[in-house]
Amino acid sequence: MNNFFYNVSVAIPLRQTFTYHSKQKIIPGTRVAVKFGSRSKLGIVTEEIKGTTIQTKTIHQVLDNDPIFSEVELKILAWASDYYHHPIGEVLGSFLPTNLRNIKTVLDDMDAVAKVEIENNPFQKNLTPQQTEAVKTLSELRGFAPTLLYGVTGSGKTEVYIRCIQEQLLQQKSVLLLAPEIALTPQLEQRVKDQFGPAVGMYHSKMTPAKRYKAWKQFRAGEINILIGTRSAAMMSAPKLGLIIVDEEHDASYKQHEGFKFSARDLAIKRAQMLKIPIILGSATPSLRTLRLVDEKKFGLIKLTKRITKQNPPKFSILDINETPLTSGLAPQAIEAIAATLKQQKQAMIFINRRGFAPQFICSSCAWRATCNSCDSSLVLHHHLERLICHRCDSAFGVPSDCPSCGAEQLAIVGTGTEQLEITLQELFPQISIFRMDKDSTKKANSMELLLQAIHESKSSILIGTQMLIKGHDFPNLELVVAIDVDQGVTSLHPAAIEEMGQQLIQVAGRAGRSDGNALVLVQSRYAQDKNLLQLKKGNYLNFAKSILAERKALNQPPYSFEAIIKAASPKTQTNIDFLDQLKKTIDTKRCIAVGPIPAMQAKVRGSYQHHLVLQAPTRTDLNSLLQDLINQLSKNKSSNKVRWSVDVDPIEF
Ligand code: ADP
Ligand code: ZN
Ligand code: ZN
Repeated sequence: MNNFFYNVSVAIPLRQTFTYHSKQKIIPGTRVAVKFGSRSKLGIVTEEIKGTTIQTKTIHQVLDNDPIFSEVELKILAWASDYYHHPIGEVLGSFLPTNLRNIKTVLDDMDAVAKVEIENNPFQKNLTPQQTEAVKTLSELRGFAPTLLYGVTGSGKTEVYIRCIQEQLLQQKSVLLLAPEIALTPQLEQRVKDQFGPAVGMYHSKMTPAKRYKAWKQFRAGEINILIGTRSAAMMSAPKLGLIIVDEEHDASYKQHEGFKFSARDLAIKRAQMLKIPIILGSATPSLRTLRLVDEKKFGLIKLTKRITKQNPPKFSILDINETPLTSGLAPQAIEAIAATLKQQKQAMIFINRRGFAPQFICSSCAWRATCNSCDSSLVLHHHLERLICHRCDSAFGVPSDCPSCGAEQLAIVGTGTEQLEITLQELFPQISIFRMDKDSTKKANSMELLLQAIHESKSSILIGTQMLIKGHDFPNLELVVAIDVDQGVTSLHPAAIEEMGQQLIQVAGRAGRSDGNALVLVQSRYAQDKNLLQLKKGNYLNFAKSILAERKALNQPPYSFEAIIKAASPKTQTNIDFLDQLKKTIDTKRCIAVGPIPAMQAKVRGSYQHHLVLQAPTRTDLNSLLQDLINQLSKNKSSNKVRWSVDVDPIEF
């Protein structure tokens, strides 16, 4: 009997596929077990090779009766491997449920479980005219039709999603709804489940592998028709996928920073394009990248400009703190405003992006500063734990009583974190409930829900939180927001920082403006005259974005040029620098700008130094071919084994 030959992508970090043979006819996309070196490895057949006679090893087991990835899914993932310059085996592996990454798991035949009946709960709300218009336009979209649904906070985007989902279900199609961090926004899940009941499945990292595997199978078998998931769900299969929705499309958590560094939003857009289906990108603060495409008419635009409650949007006020003494980061005017808010039986929120008690612990006699042994980053004092903690690697250290360097008893804290604010505000307002929401206070399962519930039940109280607190929550009684550390965003040289700062301020304001009074957002800054801050003060995100886009276009900066980082990591700084310098010499500077080698923002992580070479090219094609050249070189060059190198295309962390 004749052999069939196949290209197989093996789950290893190599940028190629390998040829194997089998007596069996295997459909591409099927998982197989193959010998790689002396070990048995998981592989995925990517294509059949005809007319070859080369000597190959055999595929010793075919694991699935049906392919895991369809032909078009394989194409999309091959695109992703090229676009992000990441090994195909790892790209394919990223979208397998954990169980299926093991060659011991044989995909049991999909038992024909009865399809879950869609509960057609009556709609609870009558749409507003703007919502009606949006739903009409969106449900008339056919083929690949990427559309930005820009809706100010509280304009009812979720209700629009629900009607669009309903339209798909009526046509017997399935819908994929991506959300940045589901655990942080339980209300999206709740709203969709209230409407469609058991036809809704979830897929995110807080679930057990068994539950994720079940959701994967159900969506694939058409037993459930709506799947809500985070970035790892971007490729979830359904028999008839009719629509993809990306909620909060601007959110940085769509980008994966480790391993396969992809953006789930951009992958979803590519998927919609290949499947020829519409995709809705929803946000009150769309990314500049998306806005550029809208501007160039490549993406459609639908606007929801009115809040459901018809309230005035919150007013912004910028508080110049250059001459002001601060108490745990708060200006006296901010404390007065908090007191006034509490007096009216309303809630006040402090938004600060630092958890812990104080971000730095220093000696005021010598220059000693507490840093992590393996990461070089400043250790953060955590009061409850009485520990200095590294926020990079979670190492914990005892708190010295005198300086380890000069022996002086003059150790002091610098800066403010959520924990310190909690203690200070409790002293200032002893009768008031204070709710702190950050990574430390929400570690336990359900703690998030309990905290949200307590906030909803309280009248006058103070909320303190990191960006976790500003994502999608409704706080009906919230009247005042104080933002106390925006200056990092204002002064950062990096373009992504200002974009994120603007998005955060508009999002945090959105939490407040839902109360019945006239909500206020107080922004403390040392750069009160900064033009971007002044633009944001008007409360109109689109205008803020427009002025930044104009500037970026003039300077040929992203999103009008295209970036990638070559990252190098090794135990020695010099090794990284030599490696990247060598690489830089080979780059044609007419084709692209190369900056570096520079230490990464986080210059040392777990004992390993991190350096970047940042590349910026005028077109996507230029960037792509440059990266391809560099990677070919690196793969051939033995000295590249001295560092761990990787590529980050469209980076957002530097
Ligand atoms: P967004 O996601 O745009 O910030 P939401 O979808 O959370 O807004 O809607 C804001 C609030 O308005 C929610 O409490 C929602 O239930 C309510 N809502 C949305 N649409 C309507 C409507 N047509 N009639 C009444 N309430 C609505
Ligand atoms: Zn000292
Ligand atoms: Zn560390």
